[in-house]
Amino acid sequence: MKGIAVYPGTFDPITNGHLDIIVRSCEIFDHVIVAVAQNIRKSPLFSVDERIEMLKEVTKNIPGVEIDTFDGLAINYVFSRNAEVIVRGLRAVSDFEYELQMALMNRKLAEQIKTVFMMPSAEYSFLSSSIVKEIVRLGRSVECFVPPFVEEQLQKKIMPQ
Ligand code: ADP
Repeated sequence: MKGIAVYPGTFDPITNGHLDIIVRSCEIFDHVIVAVAQNIRKSPLFSVDERIEMLKEVTKNIPGVEIDTFDGLAINYVFSRNAEVIVRGLRAVSDFEYELQMALMNRKLAEQIKTVFMMPSAEYSFLSSSIVKEIVRLGRSVECFVPPFVEEQLQKKIMPQ
């Protein structure tokens, strides 16, 4: 398949699960825009600039990826970038209800834009940005769950020396 896909999310911070979805998306679409939501409702740990910096660093060797940010409705951003597809990741059943609601609402708002769901490798299907932050707060390493650059930023932010 060709075309432009947008993968929107909070990415606070990016995990190996998000990365798995980005790599899979790049095998299907020509251009994948990873779009950081300026989602203040979630009170992110990292600023938008910090989240962008981490995303840029860990995707720098993946061709076809662009990192950007948006405010407001994801569907408006998707339109503004002339994309046809929204990519979302689906983990365990717990993601399903929320993702179904979002996908159906987005379809109502813009029929021509399709939502594509991808499942990560089984080893990442229990992984979330929140659990990674919790593990670091409790003093353990998250090196199996995030790229090394992200682990460093987490340690600096949560456990400053
Ligand atoms: P949001 O606030 O939009 O849910 P997230 O950064 O938490 O932002 O997630 C962005 C997208 O990535 C969502 O579709 C989410 O289901 C998916 N995602 C999050 N963690 C994983 C993971 N470990 N494996 C696959 N998809 C994931």
